[in-house]
Amino acid sequence: VTASQPAGQHTVRRHNRGLVLRTVAADEPVSRARVAARTGLTRGTVSSLVEELLGAGLLAELAAARGATGRPANPLQLNRSGPAGLGVEIGVDTVGACVVDLTGAVRAQWVVASDHRTWPARAGLEAAAELAAEVVGQAGLPIAGVGLAVPGVVAGGVLERAPNLPLWRDVDVHARVAAVLAPVVGDVPVTVGNEADLAALGEHRTHAAGDDFIYVSGGVGVGAGIVLGGRLFHGSGGRAGELGHVVVDPTGPRCTCGGRGCLERAAGMEVLCRAAGVADLDALAAATERGERAADAALRAGGHALGVALAGAVNLLDVPVVVLGGGYPRLGPVLRDAVADELARRVVWRSPVSVRVSAHTASAALVGAATSVVCALMDDVAPDQAAAGC
Ligand SMILES: [Zn+2]
Repeated sequence: VTASQPAGQHTVRRHNRGLVLRTVAADEPVSRARVAARTGLTRGTVSSLVEELLGAGLLAELAAARGATGRPANPLQLNRSGPAGLGVEIGVDTVGACVVDLTGAVRAQWVVASDHRTWPARAGLEAAAELAAEVVGQAGLPIAGVGLAVPGVVAGGVLERAPNLPLWRDVDVHARVAAVLAPVVGDVPVTVGNEADLAALGEHRTHAAGDDFIYVSGGVGVGAGIVLGGRLFHGSGGRAGELGHVVVDPTGPRCTCGGRGCLERAAGMEVLCRAAGVADLDALAAATERGERAADAALRAGGHALGVALAGAVNLLDVPVVVLGGGYPRLGPVLRDAVADELARRVVWRSPVSVRVSAHTASAALVGAATSVVCALMDDVAPDQAAAGC
């Protein structure tokens, strides 16, 4: 480092800024003195950082308590009307948009049907921009960044391949989303991630599954987000987590990826519905709740296939928790129990692998995408770095 600024000074200040913000977030409303005591920073440092954070609109001051003596010390909290994150999700058959404020609260959200299997990317992105404009108007908050979730393999902002969206191959979604959203949110950072990765990030924020888990997102496709040591595991090019195309039956049916016998062909939502003789996820959830035999048989078979694929992943990665998300949480205990059976049988070490059901609804990836923007603001880092953990 040849700069005249002492190396690391800026980094230390940024680190401390994030520390102050997270301390306020954990304990709000809170006084400056208490922030100093909790962080171990001097009061002077805290005051100066707080001024900066008030100026940036990240913190807000409440009125001082009545009867306070001397100089009033107004308690601090995260600014509910401060910069917010816009999440956009292009699903296989839905499009969604949501705004999350600095506290992580969802302030506006819409998900509507939109079949991208037959629509070209341009039409899908225009639908997303239209929905985003409505949600942003409804939330009425300044948008600091956009997180986009897509159901495919993303590297460097390019959706390289989404087996369920054949018309979206090698689409530079980063550039195109930035272009269609510029009239709505202006020139703000845009990051693009795989939907299961972003849902895993949202799950990590709830602290329910710890710092090491595999999040499985069940939809038309089956994706996974892998969290190791509290960070999202991306692989060498950001493509990790294609659980849906792990082979569970080499002689099985053809898959949209060109292979044969992929997990998706055994545990994807459309396959489960067809096997149960029902039209959609709602009907499948209702059928298993009524204990219908065909539905239970379909879910048991799908759950066993999912368990086989997950046992392989768990044996490779040594993670103690598997979280079932996407549409799977709606399908009751039959599928989950089948997954747990296979894991108990096939994972080679003795301690049991916990199979949890995500408390998130099907919009986990959407909320995770918006949350990744807020994480970047809180940590004052580039959005793509925040997407690694929060
Ligand atoms: Zn496949």
